Amino acid sequence: MKMPRRRLLRTGAAAAAALLAGGGSRAAQARPGAGGQAAPPAGPRKAYDYRIAFGAWINDMRVDPLPLENWPAPQLDDEAIASAVRAMDVQAEAGFNLLDVWGLFATYGWPPDIASAVDEDRRRRIVRFIEAARRRGLVPALGLGTYSWGYDRIIEADPEVRGKNPDGSPHPHAMCDASPKAFEYVRKIIDFTLGQFDFGAVHLESCDLGCCWCPACAGKDGVVAYNVRINRKTADYIKSRWPRKTVYVITINWAPAGKHFGEAEEDAVVELGKHVDCVFDQGHSGHHIAPARRAAFVRRLGCAYGTSGGVWLYPDTRWDRHSYFLPYPKRAAKALREHHAGGARGCMYYQGPVSNPGQEAMMAFGGRMLSDVDRSPEEALAEVLERLYKPKGEEALRRLARIFAVAEDSYFEQWSAEPFAKVWGIPVPGEFKLDQRLFGTCPGPATYLKEPCLGPEGRKAYRNGLRTILEEIPKLAGLCDDGGRLAAIRRSAIVTLNLLNTISYCLGEPIP
Ligand SMILES: [Zn+2]
Repeated sequence: MKMPRRRLLRTGAAAAAALLAGGGSRAAQARPGAGGQAAPPAGPRKAYDYRIAFGAWINDMRVDPLPLENWPAPQLDDEAIASAVRAMDVQAEAGFNLLDVWGLFATYGWPPDIASAVDEDRRRRIVRFIEAARRRGLVPALGLGTYSWGYDRIIEADPEVRGKNPDGSPHPHAMCDASPKAFEYVRKIIDFTLGQFDFGAVHLESCDLGCCWCPACAGKDGVVAYNVRINRKTADYIKSRWPRKTVYVITINWAPAGKHFGEAEEDAVVELGKHVDCVFDQGHSGHHIAPARRAAFVRRLGCAYGTSGGVWLYPDTRWDRHSYFLPYPKRAAKALREHHAGGARGCMYYQGPVSNPGQEAMMAFGGRMLSDVDRSPEEALAEVLERLYKPKGEEALRRLARIFAVAEDSYFEQWSAEPFAKVWGIPVPGEFKLDQRLFGTCPGPATYLKEPCLGPEGRKAYRNGLRTILEEIPKLAGLCDDGGRLAAIRRSAIVTLNLLNTISYCLGEPIP
């Protein structure tokens, strides 16, 4: 039963990828809006059409950490590429059909001449990355900042394009659309990247680092309408030159955390949907489209609607890869099913280093659920565990599944909305981090073990869970051919108990 199913998934992914690259499908042609041209067809199962393995920055998937590197790590070295290729093997086998990775060319700053961003070594690595993805049936997506992300050096060199903050002060990251030169820089980057490298899709992102608030930009239109305007212009340019490339936009930072779009803002996004293939309302701190309005909104949207599922771990490049173990298959499956029922057909599913057993399993699991949302999560996880751990017999498989269930429930069942609202002023996060501060130049504090994530009772429950995992692992001795994964989980549980007990000790909480 299992082997034919895997072949089917690969074949389906490859077929959809070929359609993504080549454009055109009955399902896509039936869909209104200019964006339909490059969309893949829905499969025979209830599947997401855009099953995007979202890197997000290439070093987020790095097997060997960069303990002293601030976020986002800028280097594109052989380790970054080798780690990404290892991740691709998991992604392609799991059923993802797109691979979206940032940082191939620049992080904060493209050089003003654009082309000098890529020397011979970098070009060789980018080509290797793209070819490795294509060979596995994964369509590589270019991560492209729209006026923001990637323009710091350009703004420094050419102050005419610099945007403004809401208080009128100079913006460090965003260009201003009132200057015609700003779009010229965007156009040059598009011409260079899509003209010289074989990307099949483009991910547009305009406001993660903020946008221009001058009286001609967000100061006139408001954040949503302004971001719609600059992304529409960019998408139209890409489609005019490369009509078969998939183009999608994410709405990160288009509304404050926990706030939903109003009717006028929804209308603006519906207009954007006529120009792109998918709009991603990922849900970092709640979704911009109120869940109760999702189905009605999707019916109006002329392109696909996407999320990033429910909760997801954003990995930390500075952390030891065997220092945490946080799988969440039950929660992921529930959200993916609910969002699909509400009309979502795209998912930017977060990836991580495959050397962390929790992240590796979540990648393998996520691609499977996106390919068949009605599948039993228990059965999908069992398939993943059988493949990765090669348990000898059903009892060993059952014990493995229990370790994953204890890891998930003993941590995530301690979350509740009230502490998040009280401490961070946001709803329960979609994106959560080991070190909430994100930035830093050494491995940071384990904020995910403190309030608002865990209080005293939460730490106690999670400690019990980790102790259970350490009790269970020896029972699997000799019963798995797991390639060192159980040893990695064991080390993760020990390190996490160290961190947890250090916090409890400092707070005067009892420690067994
Ligand atoms: Zn402006």
